[in-house]
Amino acid sequence: MKKLKKEGKFKNLSMTKKLSKNKIENKAKAHNFKKEIDDKNLIEKVYIVENVDCANCAAKIERRINNLPEIQSATYTFATQKLKVVAENPDKLLDKMSKIADTIEPNATINEINPKRKKSARQIDIEIKKKKRKEIVALIGFFIYITGIGIYHLMDIEKVAVGLFVFSYILLGGEVVLTALKNISRGQIFDENFLMSIATIGAFAIGEYPEAIGVMFFYRIGEFLEDKAVDKSRSQIDSINALKSEKAILIVEDKEKTIEKEIDVEDVKVGDIILLKAGMRVPVDGKVVSGETSVDKSPITGETLQIFVEEGDELVSGSINLTGTIKMEATKILKESMITTIINAIDEAVESKPKMERFITRFAAVYTPIVVAVALITAIAGSIITGNHDKWVYIALTFLVISCPCALVLSVPMTYFAGIGVVAKQGILFKGGIVLERLKNIKHIVFDKTGTLTKGNFQVEKMVYTQELFTEMGIDADRSMAEKNLLSMAYVCEKNSQHPIAVSITKAIKDRIDNLEPLNKIAYQVVEEKGKGMIATLGEEQILCGNERLMEKYNVDVTKHLLDFQGTVVIIAKNGKVMGSISISDQVKDDSVEAIEKLKKQGYKISMITGDNKDTAKHMAWKMGIDEVFSEILPHEKFKIIKGMRKAKKGIMFVGDGINDGPVLAGADVGVAMGSGTDVAIQAADVVLLNSNLNSLAKMLKISKKANFIAISNVVFAIGVKLAVMLFGLFGIASMWTAVFADSGVTVLCLLNSMTLFKYKDIE
Ligand code: ADP
Ligand code: MG
Repeated sequence: MKKLKKEGKFKNLSMTKKLSKNKIENKAKAHNFKKEIDDKNLIEKVYIVENVDCANCAAKIERRINNLPEIQSATYTFATQKLKVVAENPDKLLDKMSKIADTIEPNATINEINPKRKKSARQIDIEIKKKKRKEIVALIGFFIYITGIGIYHLMDIEKVAVGLFVFSYILLGGEVVLTALKNISRGQIFDENFLMSIATIGAFAIGEYPEAIGVMFFYRIGEFLEDKAVDKSRSQIDSINALKSEKAILIVEDKEKTIEKEIDVEDVKVGDIILLKAGMRVPVDGKVVSGETSVDKSPITGETLQIFVEEGDELVSGSINLTGTIKMEATKILKESMITTIINAIDEAVESKPKMERFITRFAAVYTPIVVAVALITAIAGSIITGNHDKWVYIALTFLVISCPCALVLSVPMTYFAGIGVVAKQGILFKGGIVLERLKNIKHIVFDKTGTLTKGNFQVEKMVYTQELFTEMGIDADRSMAEKNLLSMAYVCEKNSQHPIAVSITKAIKDRIDNLEPLNKIAYQVVEEKGKGMIATLGEEQILCGNERLMEKYNVDVTKHLLDFQGTVVIIAKNGKVMGSISISDQVKDDSVEAIEKLKKQGYKISMITGDNKDTAKHMAWKMGIDEVFSEILPHEKFKIIKGMRKAKKGIMFVGDGINDGPVLAGADVGVAMGSGTDVAIQAADVVLLNSNLNSLAKMLKISKKANFIAISNVVFAIGVKLAVMLFGLFGIASMWTAVFADSGVTVLCLLNSMTLFKYKDIE
């Protein structure tokens, strides 16, 4: 692979990502929209699109940009106004892309994202005033329209009434007509504005005044409500972005005095000491170095829970310091902190579009031309055959009114968007809209044991010392010496591992042996065998610390020892002889049993998969009501098992937390990582339970089912109503009023249907 070119530098989030061929392929696979990838230096970059107000225009812009030969792929997310482009040199195409946007919607621009540049209060003020003015003009137009209708029907003064109608038409639809004209001059003919203008001017021409204006009026109402819905969901995204702090107070020790210095959070380095006063947000991940306070993690986990922290405790970026002033040490830079993971995931989530959404975008591209063609044929054929021009032109005009696929292009993405927002509020992070869609196919949930279903916080239950150990220590040795000896051997192995067993054992040893300094000074060579244990060597000496499989591999005979296999056992051997064992036990998490019961009730098959021994695994599974257990499974075998399950049937969800769960998380249909889990797991997963609460699983499955149902019902409803109106139209039953309902009415109903998802925030 050739070296990738350097791109424009962004200090903030990783707006520019250089992708290797491999990564794109993986991503493409993950998102199911694999395109031909040739061996180019492709770069992924995200831009911001401004001044685009209609969802269908957004879909068109995305299609046109995708058609550029230099573009590998372009994804435009209307909800976040972001455009993600994969190309060799995206910046070079910026002008071209901006022009495309501008031809489709006048004044639309595509720009680089500049986190420092925010809209000024004055700009926002101007925009609000502009919107208000439009609304007032429309309202006046509406009153004139009503007066017109009154005069038309009651007083029968046609001339005055028509004058009023024309005036109200200009107020309500003038802008639509103007935009249509502007777009025509740019070569954009078949857009909604044009079709609406033709339909209404046509209706005027054949003397159907009230209908003509009615269409415009309801079109405006639809537009107004769309605007509100889009604003509501955009504010959801903004609320997540608000979790990020801009500035941090850095503490610099300068000779005798300490200085407090305000710096950008992007500039915080690992090891920096930061001052956190009450009310401030934790800017990057870190730990408390002095002081104590309560923190509110709810912005991240969705659970209102105040946690007391003191020296040594961890702090997650995005949480709020509630009471005291503390000093914290940064353990991660902003780019690697939880808060960035969350913000990026949400961005990606809305960008990776579900199949249904992509289908709708493609459908929208053909829908309008087809309807327009049908309208033309109807007008011409109907007029020629029957000779009744007015009737058939009127029918054709009603078709034009329903020629916009707005209801679909707006409501379907909105549904997935709302779904992602609703679960995010509860501390469940979806890394793709596509996840929401995949969740509906899940039938079987497979859990990792340690750290996922259990606390992963092992307690030492019992220690066994063998005859060999005493022989080695000599005749004076007593029990406490044996303990110290055995634990020392375990220590030199386990202090080098991040495995929950190792962490727990190391912690227990630190409680039991006062001075570990001498042991730390001995330079053992330590290797970790995944799924087996640890090997420490120093010259001729070899210490093993792990399970039976490890002993087997190094030809240590364990058969003559009566080892306890009730719990998890760590066997310790030196130079081929068993020295003893440490039995440890883990506890089932408080929420595991309830969570599994809920999932079973919802009809999911549940299995557990673990590297731990058979008896322990079975016992734990029995405690939690799990029917199927795979035990003594090596990490790479876990992946094979999941792959086998996927082949046999569709819809496997894997829930895990460990380093060795990474491949399995990526390989399952949906991989769920615990927020408390390792970075590897969090990176590889499709979903992260930031609150580490297993009860979230049932919730997210329910919400995703609901979201998919809403999306599908919107599609069926919108297409159904439009088809019905066209059919009725052909039989002369549908009027332009029906068409208005099929257009603006259906859009509003679909949107309202999507918005019901927001109500699901308290689902149990
Ligand atoms: P799980 O699937 O339960 O998360 P792993 O695959 O990580 O477990 O480990 C499986 C088994 O390997 C453990 O139950 C333990 O017996 C052994 N093991 C793994 N790492 C260690 C270690 N650092 N020290 C001792 N034993 C270990
Ligand atoms: Mg685990």
